[in-house]
Amino acid sequence: MAYQICLLPGDGIGPEIITEATKVLDAVGAKHGMSFEYHEALMGGCAIDACGDPLPDETLELARKSDAVLLAAVGGPKWDTTEPGAPRPEQGLLRLRRELGLYTNLRPVHVFSALADASTIKRSYIEGVDLVLVRELTGGLYFGERGRNEDVPGAGVDGAAGAEAYDSLTYSEREIERIARAAFGIAQRRPRKRLHSVDKANVLATSRLWREVVHRVAADYPDVELVDLLVDNTAMQLVHDPRQFDVIVTENMFGDILSDEASMLSGSLGMLASASLGDDTPVYEPSHGTAPDIAGQGVANPLAQIMSAEMMLRYSFSADDAADDIGRAIAAVLDEGWRTRDLAGADTPSDKVVGTAAMGDLVVEHL
Ligand code: NAD
Repeated sequence: MAYQICLLPGDGIGPEIITEATKVLDAVGAKHGMSFEYHEALMGGCAIDACGDPLPDETLELARKSDAVLLAAVGGPKWDTTEPGAPRPEQGLLRLRRELGLYTNLRPVHVFSALADASTIKRSYIEGVDLVLVRELTGGLYFGERGRNEDVPGAGVDGAAGAEAYDSLTYSEREIERIARAAFGIAQRRPRKRLHSVDKANVLATSRLWREVVHRVAADYPDVELVDLLVDNTAMQLVHDPRQFDVIVTENMFGDILSDEASMLSGSLGMLASASLGDDTPVYEPSHGTAPDIAGQGVANPLAQIMSAEMMLRYSFSADDAADDIGRAIAAVLDEGWRTRDLAGADTPSDKVVGTAAMGDLVVEHL
C-alpha cells in the first residue's frame, strides 16, 4: 500500500526543492519496496493569491487524512504587509501546527565531515556531531497569560509610576509527560540511547515539575541513560563539547534558543531539517525560509528538504534503513566535493558547483 503524502510546496524556492525530495523518496522507495502517493495543496502566499486564505480548508482536510505532510516554506516580500487585517502566509503555518496538535518539534543537527569547515566552530570540536533537539512546542511562556499594567506606583524611573509587564510560565504534568515520552522514544531508537533533559530546576517551579515527571517517565525506558542539565550549562556545553549530546529534550522557550544555537554547529542553513509531531498528521520541513532572493533560478540547496523526507521515513514510517540510506548518499555526494552555491567555498572548483536538480540527481545516483 502506498503512503499518502500531502505536499505543500509553498512559496519562493519551495516548489524547486520539494521536487528533489519526491525524486529521492521515489528512488529510495523503489529500493526498499515502499511507494508514495503525493497530493499537492496550497498553503502560504500562493494560497492567499488563489483564495485569500493562507490555509484553505481543503488543504487542512488533505493534511489530516494524509500519513504525513512534507512542507517546503511559505512567505515572501509580495505578501509582507503591516495592514492589521490582511492575511499573512505564516498564519497558515501557525494554524496548521495548531490544528494538527503538533506539540513536539525535532531539530536534528548532523555535522557532515565534508562541511565541518563551514562552521564558525573548529572542526576538531564539531566533527562527528549528531544530535536531535526535542522542543516542546505548544506550552510554556509563549502560550501563558501575559499583560501590561500602566501607571504602577514605583515601577517608573526614579521611583515614579510607570509600566510593568508580565508573561506567565505554566506546564502541566500531561504536557511534560507526552513530550518526555516522545524524547525517550527517539533516544531509545538511536545507538547511543542518551537523553539530556534540560531545565532550570534550581530556580523555576515549572522546571522542578519537569524534572519530577521526566524521572518518573524514565522508569519505562530503562535502556536510556538520562542526564539532567541546567539550561545555562547546556548553552555552554553545546559549543564546548557538542559531541556529548545524543538527544536533548527541553521546554518551549529554552528549546527555541538552544535550537538556534545548535543549528550553528552545522554552519549552513541549507542543511537543517525539522519535524513537528503530535496528535494528528506529522509535518516535515526544512528550517530555512523561501529564499526569495534566489527563487526560480534553479540554484537553491535541496538537501534540507531531502533530509526532511529522510526524517519522515524515520519518524512516520519507521523505515530507518531507507532513511539511513539517504543520509549516507548525501554524505557521499558531499565527500566527492559536490556543492550547491550556498555550500561552495572559495576553494570549490567551479565544475563541482551544481544546481538544485543536479544535486537531487546526485543523491539519487548515490542511492
Ligand atoms: P531564508 O531562510 O528564506 O533566507 C535566508 C538566506 O539563506 C537567504 O540569503 C537565502 O538565499 C538563503 N537560503 C535559505 N535557504 C536556502 C537554500 N535552501 N539554498 C540556498 N540558500 C538558501 O530567510 P529570510 O530571508 O529571513 O526569509 C525569506 C522568507 O521566508 C520570508 O517571507 C520569511 O517569512 C519566510 N520564512 C518562512 C519560513 C517557513 O516557512 N518555515 C521560515 C523562515 C522564513
